[in-house]
Amino acid sequence: MWPKLRDFFARELLILIDPTHDLHRRRKRQIISVVGSVLTLGMVTAFGIAPMVPDAALRGDRVQMPIAFPDLTPQIRQIDAHEQTFVSQASLQRGDTVDGLLQRLSINDPQAERFIQADRHARALFRLPSEQLISAVTDDAGKLLSLTAMLSFDAEQSRELKISRNAQNRLGSRVNVLPNETQWDMRSGTIDDKFFRAMDDAGVPESVVAQMVRIFSGVVNFHKDVRRGDRFRLVFENIQQQGRTVRYGRVLAVEFVNRGKTYQTVWYAEPGQASNGTYYTFDGKHLRQAFLRTPVEFSRLTSGFGTRNHPLFQDWRQHNGVDFAAPVGTRVFAAGDGTVSFVGQQNGYGNIVMIKHAGGYSTRYAHLSGFAPGVRAGQRVAQGAVIGFVGQTGWATGPHLHYELRYRGQPLNPFATSFAAAPPLDGKRLERFNLYTTHLLKRIDLMRTVHIAQIS
Ligand SMILES: [Zn+2]
Repeated sequence: MWPKLRDFFARELLILIDPTHDLHRRRKRQIISVVGSVLTLGMVTAFGIAPMVPDAALRGDRVQMPIAFPDLTPQIRQIDAHEQTFVSQASLQRGDTVDGLLQRLSINDPQAERFIQADRHARALFRLPSEQLISAVTDDAGKLLSLTAMLSFDAEQSRELKISRNAQNRLGSRVNVLPNETQWDMRSGTIDDKFFRAMDDAGVPESVVAQMVRIFSGVVNFHKDVRRGDRFRLVFENIQQQGRTVRYGRVLAVEFVNRGKTYQTVWYAEPGQASNGTYYTFDGKHLRQAFLRTPVEFSRLTSGFGTRNHPLFQDWRQHNGVDFAAPVGTRVFAAGDGTVSFVGQQNGYGNIVMIKHAGGYSTRYAHLSGFAPGVRAGQRVAQGAVIGFVGQTGWATGPHLHYELRYRGQPLNPFATSFAAAPPLDGKRLERFNLYTTHLLKRIDLMRTVHIAQIS
């Protein structure tokens, strides 16, 4: 640190005292602009050190003090060999021009400006999201030496734009593909009050919370069942690029203790079917149910909605279904795989979607404010697909979803009906699954030990 600073000042001093140096005029201007404050500071210092000055000086006698000025030429040559560079960072702002961005990056370089406007890679800078940082290295005259920006991130890799100046003083650009690194993160906590607050307190990212709700949507009713004292433990992928999180990936394992009952699930893909993985209980049963219990999005917005004045659930027998109070516009999902049989209006139901499922089952979604774009009769839908939005059309006293599950036309209680969407793993498949989960659980237990050790 100190030798570097000393070299720097030595070089600056030489520039100042050498009027033939390229930077002489520039430095002089810069120094004049700060000289006022330096003077004030200098006066204070002079006052402070006055007692140190020999008495002779105070009496006005001439004092001679030797000033040794070492020969700095070799060091200066060395410093000049690696020119002084400056690094600056900025992000794109709404309506930014090339000029505006370059100014914020302390770049004063018309050639670079022209290059960025014309180069097909470089132009990607202006399609970046506004929070994305761009960093630039310039020399001390503001000439661009290099510029880097992350263009995009996906699960496996990131794309980086690099603009650099070569030895022939020409600017060039390229897009580098950099593999991401995936690490595992674990979070755990207890629900004291609100589900989402507990998630925030534990530092669970938003996308991971949404996944957890989806994973358990066939088993736990988040609208109704979450209680004070419920506990959770989550392991999920944290995808990083150069030590920085670029996104959160898949939930790998969750444990959720809800009203004293423990739900554990693990994400598993059978060999050769990486994209077809699904969530299993630890004994190899599919967690995915044939029908979602709550075919309406559970979010921060809906979590406390309607609990005070509007009855959240009525007895399903009274009107053949259950009601979910939720704000107008909340997304409504297909409860299971099936084929849409009706989209439109019916007396009392208002806007309604009906879906036929395999094995004689059907579902109805009523009082909708609108239908999802493209939903029409005859269309196949997958479980979880958005089919419409909560409203209060038809005979409805407040915004809510009226949901019915029927078997051969006879209404069923959706909360009492539970069946897995697929048979459990067995034989060799179960053996492989057990091998995988044993390893996974060992690693999770290890993480828990580390986690606890860090807290205490
Ligand atoms: Zn109803």
